[in-house]
Amino acid sequence: MIDERTLDKARSLCQALIGGTMSGARSGMTFANVSPRDGRTLANVAACDATDVDAAVASARAAFEDGRWRDLPPKAKKKVLHRLADLMETHADELAWLECLDMGKPISDARGVDLPLAIDTVRYYAEALDKLYGEVGPSHPGRLSYAVHEPLGVIGAIVPWNFPLLMAMWKVAPALAMGNSMVLKPAEQSPSSAIRIGELALEAGLPPGVLNVVPGFGETAGKALALHVDVDMIAFTGSGSVGKLLMRYSGESNLKRVSLELGGKSPQIVFADCTDLDAAAQAAAWGIFYNQGEVCTAASRLLVQRDIKDAFLERVLAVAKGIVPGDPADPETRFGAMVSEEQMQTALRHIEAARQESGPPLIGGRRVREETGGFYVEPTIFDTAPSAALAQQEVFGPVLGVIPFDAPDEAFRIANDTIYGLAAGVWTGSVDLAHRSAKKLRAGLVWVNGWDACDITMPFGGFKQSGFGRDRSMHALEKYADLKAVTFSLRT
Ligand code: NAD
Repeated sequence: MIDERTLDKARSLCQALIGGTMSGARSGMTFANVSPRDGRTLANVAACDATDVDAAVASARAAFEDGRWRDLPPKAKKKVLHRLADLMETHADELAWLECLDMGKPISDARGVDLPLAIDTVRYYAEALDKLYGEVGPSHPGRLSYAVHEPLGVIGAIVPWNFPLLMAMWKVAPALAMGNSMVLKPAEQSPSSAIRIGELALEAGLPPGVLNVVPGFGETAGKALALHVDVDMIAFTGSGSVGKLLMRYSGESNLKRVSLELGGKSPQIVFADCTDLDAAAQAAAWGIFYNQGEVCTAASRLLVQRDIKDAFLERVLAVAKGIVPGDPADPETRFGAMVSEEQMQTALRHIEAARQESGPPLIGGRRVREETGGFYVEPTIFDTAPSAALAQQEVFGPVLGVIPFDAPDEAFRIANDTIYGLAAGVWTGSVDLAHRSAKKLRAGLVWVNGWDACDITMPFGGFKQSGFGRDRSMHALEKYADLKAVTFSLRT
């Protein structure tokens, strides 16, 4: 269980990091970082506003222009990023506790999933940074032309609360690896690990000013960053509504680049010829209930071929019955608290609307553990229709809608019939049907006979209103670079 030293550390992470120095907001304003585990305030954190963002951007710009990071040889950059990964490993347990306390995820998941993936991300980009080659063009014989990648400049990263550290590192690691300077704005629900990463990056030898961290609200700190004329790019993970605002802010300011990783309504399709219904049932339940359903790729729609629907649903319900909300700080807990009272109320509203539209849930549907002061909602499953609100709107909570279908083409049509296109899954014993499905599904990620096979080597991002631009893989490095074409006219 959690000890006093860890709690003290969590309480101490309440300042902004600007130009290598920790400080409160210039205004002196703070906001309460409430732990959803018990509804208690962990710390009062600096509520940065436009003035702090100005200072952070100025510090990042100065660091970029004098080349203190950008112009280091690749080997030196690599060493710093590896040192950061080492420090994250040394402090893995402490970082895992910050994730657990800030956002209510089970400590076992924070230790077993978030931290290893975040550390892998830093190591991957430490190694990748000298493997992005330019090109020599087949130009006129009287010329020599080549194209090189150059860092963009100052990157503003705005991240959500569901995987606070991992989402931050998906942006921080490749942007730094490419030689950029940064201002990171964590979500107001989960500022601690971002602030701690700022400290660890300094300890690892990242020059002051290269990575700045400004905790604060979206409408103040986030908006100021996105409207700032000296920010070259906003890298965002979050909701579609904020994604749309960021495009507007870009147009209203300096046409900064924007990359958007947004929401989803991801379908998992189980065909009658699936050869491992137990594995599919595990994936159907955990695909939605992992991280309390607060996952952008959550498999929130389960499409089952009608012949096997009743039998398969029985297996899914059996798995779901074993997923019981518990104290995230207990190492035995596999399903914790929702991130905030607001997010819990949103999930309960969706559940109520689904009850009105589709009848009572097959399982779950209630708030539980209210006596703890925390924000817990049961895993919930409804039978639903493709056009129902539950099958169209992202809940971002532990609510699954089950939809039957008869033929593969009908399944593809239903699967593609939302505004989103982030992830999709298929369970089948037929190679032909698997390939056909992978082709037909309009999603940035398709998993066959498995769910959420997360791999840093593969690009991550969505089609349609799930956004554009990719995290992970070498594509993310390119995202943080400009391409310069250089041409020499040769005199003989
Ligand atoms: P959100 O969009 O409300 O907040 C995300 C971030 O944006 C936070 O840091 C917030 O402070 C900031 N923000 C809010 N308003 C802003 C504004 N006007 N200007 C600038 N910044 C602003 O989303 P959320 O509730 O934190 O996260 C849930 C959403 O994120 C879901 O829709 C989910 O699907 C999506 N998500 C997507 C991915 C992905 O990779 N595709 C991953 C995780 C979460």
